[in-house]
Amino acid sequence: MKQFTLKVKSVENATHDVLRIRIEKPQGFEFEPGQATEIAIKKKDWEFELRPFTFTCLPSDDYLEFTIKTYPEHKGVTNELLNLKAGDELIVGEPWGTINYKGPGVFIAGGAGVTPFIAIFRHLHSKNEIGNNKLIFANKTSADIINKDEFSKILGDNFVNILSHEEKTGYAHGYIDLNLLKQHTEQGLYYYVCGPDPMMDIMVDYLHQLGVNDKYIVKEEF
Ligand SMILES: Cc1cc2nc3c(=O)[nH]c(=O)nc-3n(C[C@H](O)[C@H](O)[C@H](O)COP(=O)(O)OP(=O)(O)OC[C@H]3O[C@@H](n4cnc5c(N)ncnc54)[C@H](O)[C@@H]3O)c2cc1C
Repeated sequence: MKQFTLKVKSVENATHDVLRIRIEKPQGFEFEPGQATEIAIKKKDWEFELRPFTFTCLPSDDYLEFTIKTYPEHKGVTNELLNLKAGDELIVGEPWGTINYKGPGVFIAGGAGVTPFIAIFRHLHSKNEIGNNKLIFANKTSADIINKDEFSKILGDNFVNILSHEEKTGYAHGYIDLNLLKQHTEQGLYYYVCGPDPMMDIMVDYLHQLGVNDKYIVKEEF
């Protein structure tokens, strides 16, 4: 698989533990919103430590963007990315297929599982095709909600938040359950699910219970 060594243009915090990293884009580089690639840090001892991350920029942007949750306790790549600064280099592979947009639906995300949906929603918004698509976004606290202002602006009332570790006015409290999903289930919609393994299993199980056929479930496990 082809690899590119690309200079970091900027690193900023998207939340207290999520980085927004923008890097150079090679000429002619193309990807579909929702696709991911493998990234390593061009630095001694880290060059072969590849990890999958999703493009969160628009295909038309003149940079590549990644939105990356960091796990200092893993002492792995995301922890090392906390030291990244403009001018450093990343090794980036070619894009590969994960989630892609198949049609109007309900997007269900847990934490950093929202990243493929950032790219998809930005793309739909840029084409004026956001329609009635909905995002149900589960987080521990409101401080963990990635791109909260942008999603509110793009989706309005179709941005549904639920917090498991904080009770706050205007936010549902708890975990995404059958009842919440039922309120958003309609025939002919697609259900896009992305998040940690246990959450994925339970969401797919709920969708089956609500009579959603597998062909309408698009999923990616993080
Ligand atoms: C297709 C795809 C796309 C993805 N896109 C994104 C994205 O856009 N943004 C994003 O934030 N994430 C994304 N992820 C998830 C991301 O790849 C992982 O969070 C990342 O690989 C973690 O790398 P790491 O080196 O920091 O830790 P890991 O590789 O998970 O762990 C490094 C080491 O830490 C130890 N470890 C593992 N778990 C724990 C734990 N709970 N406590 C203590 N130690 C532990 C293990 O020994 C492990 O070898 C994506 C995943 C997939 C599959």
